[in-house]
Amino acid sequence: MTNKIAPAPKAGILDIAPYVGGKSKIDGVAEPIKLSSNENALGCSARAIEAYEKAKEKLFRYPDGHAAPLRAAVAQYHGLEPERLVFGNGSDEVFALLNQVYLEAGDNIVTGEHGFLAYRISALACQAEVKLAEEPDQRVSIDALLDLVDDRTKIVYISNPANPTGTWNTPEELADLRARLAPSILLVIDEAYAEFVDEPTWATAFPLARGADNVIVTRTFSKIHGLAGLRIGFGYCPVDVIAAIDRIRLPFNANLPAQFAAVAALEDTVHIEASRQQILNWHPRLRQAIAGMGFDIRKGIGNFVLIYFRDAEEAARANEFLMSQGLIVRHVANYGLPQALRITIGKDAENEAFLEALSRFAATR
Ligand code: PMP
Repeated sequence: MTNKIAPAPKAGILDIAPYVGGKSKIDGVAEPIKLSSNENALGCSARAIEAYEKAKEKLFRYPDGHAAPLRAAVAQYHGLEPERLVFGNGSDEVFALLNQVYLEAGDNIVTGEHGFLAYRISALACQAEVKLAEEPDQRVSIDALLDLVDDRTKIVYISNPANPTGTWNTPEELADLRARLAPSILLVIDEAYAEFVDEPTWATAFPLARGADNVIVTRTFSKIHGLAGLRIGFGYCPVDVIAAIDRIRLPFNANLPAQFAAVAALEDTVHIEASRQQILNWHPRLRQAIAGMGFDIRKGIGNFVLIYFRDAEEAARANEFLMSQGLIVRHVANYGLPQALRITIGKDAENEAFLEALSRFAATR
């Protein structure tokens, strides 16, 4: 007898569009230039690799479930209270934990229409609604976010600076948002790209979070520290939020090699500075060169640039053309920007190769 009633995922799960990461292969190209995932062009610190090697001897051990050495290192590096930190399998896991803790079916999160997708996926998995606020000029509007907040809103998410737009909000705007938000609603400020900022109208929200019971700031080791493959990030949270998260956080969610390598990465200030300079040097050079070819490119922050094409069709054509030249960039249609391609800033030679390929495409317009 065959049973035709198959196990069914709970309502809504199969409606979630799966996250599609940056491509890493092109058929027939042995070594493509991968500029699609905002990874660190310079890789990670040699000291982090050394620490990772040391971790090999300890692989039979469970990791420290409290991440004590890493907690102390992060607290010291950023001047934060250690008891207010929670570590995750990438900052993505911190978003998922927050959603799991605070969202019931029928609740909602509010974020910008071009906002990072990870916030949305785990919110939908909680059977919550995702409300997307319009971003005039591809920049988060505090008023537009607040307009969508209702009595079922539990979390407002902002990435600052934002991926993929590269736009940002000022500390005054964030303080205003927090002041106008009910204290029962969490405000999560994702600062994944903070270390690449050289812009006087941007500042970290750590001070805002320190003085508030509903503000969380997240950071990651995937970008400036080049440890995307190890999966480690953290949230700076009110202690009550930590107490709630710790009820459901898997006890060993931050893996052992990641904890070892992250501590070493924080110590390597030379690598941190070199990674930052690579971006700060190339950002204006790329912008100028790309604008010079007649493309629409705007000032932005982060280890990437976003090029706006005439329309979605031209962006798709440019994407195909770049692939044919061995370059993988990111078409960001699923961020509500079908007319745009995002290019991670790479090594010098990779950036040069990209510019050459783009100029060949420009010649075909
Ligand atoms: N926030 C933003 C805005 C990002 O772009 C990314 C990575 N693409 C992350 C968070 C996720 O970082 P992690 O690797 O720590 O999960």
